Amino acid sequence: MIRDMARDFTEKHIKPVAAKLDEEKQFPYENLKKMAQLGLMGMNIPSQYGGSEAGVVAQSLAITEIAKGCASHAVTTSVTNMVAEVISIFGKEEIRKKHVPRICSGEYPAGAFALTEPHTGSDAANIRMTATRDQDGYVLNGTKTLITSGEAAGVTVTWAVTDKNAKKGKGITCFVIEKGTPGLIVGKAEDKMGHRASFTNELIFDNCFVPASSVMGAVEEGFKIAMVELDGGRIGIGSLAVGVGLAAIEFATKYVMEREAFGQPLSNFQAIQWMIADSYTALEAAQLLVLRAAHLKETNQPFTKEASMAKLYAGESARDAAVRAVQMLGGYGYTKDYPVERYLRDIIGTTLYEGTSEVQRIVVAREIMKRL
Ligand SMILES: Cc1cc2nc3c(=O)[nH]c(=O)nc-3n(C[C@H](O)[C@H](O)[C@H](O)COP(=O)(O)OP(=O)(O)OC[C@H]3O[C@@H](n4cnc5c(N)ncnc54)[C@H](O)[C@@H]3O)c2cc1C
Repeated sequence: MIRDMARDFTEKHIKPVAAKLDEEKQFPYENLKKMAQLGLMGMNIPSQYGGSEAGVVAQSLAITEIAKGCASHAVTTSVTNMVAEVISIFGKEEIRKKHVPRICSGEYPAGAFALTEPHTGSDAANIRMTATRDQDGYVLNGTKTLITSGEAAGVTVTWAVTDKNAKKGKGITCFVIEKGTPGLIVGKAEDKMGHRASFTNELIFDNCFVPASSVMGAVEEGFKIAMVELDGGRIGIGSLAVGVGLAAIEFATKYVMEREAFGQPLSNFQAIQWMIADSYTALEAAQLLVLRAAHLKETNQPFTKEASMAKLYAGESARDAAVRAVQMLGGYGYTKDYPVERYLRDIIGTTLYEGTSEVQRIVVAREIMKRL
């Protein structure tokens, strides 16, 4: 039911505007609000905080449908759900009550998850932003970069070093910070290849004071929160990748069934059929991996390895499918008259953020070797 609702919404409200939003780099405020009202922004959040309690499997299915229309809508949905989850699991009660219902209702257009810094992304434990104790709170200083929805987010979760002498990854604390807090400066929005209807900003923290109640979880245990939440986030991005890949290959398959060469439809040629078969086979396998990871998370079982496998395989399978889709359209595939070039630009992002493909392979191998 939730998948069908997301599909219906995507057909009516997202697909018709996706190319324009991409072209003009516009953030889809209006649609995100409507999606929140449908319960799509707090899908794994208890109803007492305004969530829809639909669960992780439903969330995965919904994100795949949204991504078939527009990857930017889908990434905003995935990251915003992740932020709602961080706050609802690790926030103090007053903080939960304040922010989570506003995320779920769409009062905040989005939430942001600010971990990456200009000098470090994959090696996230190497962050340099500092949080210095100051009377009844902390003062944050540092810069985050490439932050999805940085300028639109009503609330941001972020990470800073609170103990410079601790072992790597141990002295990091997670904080929540509201839009408009003095000292939180929104920097430039990147001019990106894809995901162009999603803002990706620099965030500068310049002597930015946050009260002690802003600490998520325990002091100096923030790095674990980032890792746990990224595991979940990877299910969202795997779901997104499946959606973009399926949209690309479906469009190209319909095209080759109509377009003729050498006196017959392109779809008669075996070389073209193999592209269709290989793409659908890999994407359906990818979706099964994604749904397995979602099911494990939903049923409180370990899912780190499965989430990384799912994101890795979905991202790379969808990228291959989008490349084939462009090929199947020939020269037209390379123009903006057809959506397949956008799908290809969008899909490349999914093998980079929330852990590159190389990082996913590291996680998978490490988890396998741990058990042997
Ligand atoms: C569209 C978009 C949205 C994003 N949104 C967010 C966000 O909301 N929040 C946030 O915190 N960040 C966000 N990011 C940042 C993203 O998470 C990082 O770009 C990513 O983690 C990679 O880090 P990096 O760019 O510093 O690359 P680097 O870490 O410098 O890596 C460069 C290359 O080296 C490879 N590499 C690094 N270490 C190893 C290794 N040990 N073995 C093999 N290869 C390795 C990488 O895989 C990559 O290919 C976003 C990025 C993009 C593109």
